[in-house]
Amino acid sequence: MRFFAPREECATIFDVDYESLWNRGMRGLIFDLDNTLCSWHASSLDESVRDLLGDLRERGFRLCILSNGNLDNRHGILEDLTRQEIPVFYPAKKPLPIGFKRAQRFLDLNPKEVAVIGDQLLTDVLGGNLLGFYTILVEPLCPREHPWTKHVSRLLERLLGRKFKRQSSPAGVGPGYPVERPQPSSRRDRKE
Ligand SMILES: [Mg+2]
Repeated sequence: MRFFAPREECATIFDVDYESLWNRGMRGLIFDLDNTLCSWHASSLDESVRDLLGDLRERGFRLCILSNGNLDNRHGILEDLTRQEIPVFYPAKKPLPIGFKRAQRFLDLNPKEVAVIGDQLLTDVLGGNLLGFYTILVEPLCPREHPWTKHVSRLLERLLGRKFKRQSSPAGVGPGYPVERPQPSSRRDRKE
């Protein structure tokens, strides 16, 4: 069961204490894409997310994206990441080690120097833990997901004891779901 346990849980990528990660020796960050950096199948990244990634690079973190999705037709996302010189590896087949190892080779860091940040226990957290990375679980950004994720993975996550703090409807989906878009102000607040 410990392989399904994240080392930390945060509401969003904006709530992660990156300074603490840096102070503990972490130099590389592997981000999941869908429902972590953007909503599922989004065509571009929010400006606040692009700014955060830029800030993290300026701090000295090495970054890459690991996605199980097929991004061939998501040109906006790929262009956003290319412009920021952040590689995205896909389809990553998480939780299998192959994608994580590819990301680690790119980062050129030891597992103890790498944090994996994602919204799924069965892909991001399990895969990251299997390779000895520091894993951080965030809440999914919105209820729209790949059908497999929505109907199978989330059910298994609940059976593993995961609570979804940001879901307002009993089924976890529906118009009442409070999609909380990251606000640029949260980024400014952290700097003060
Ligand atoms: Mg995801």
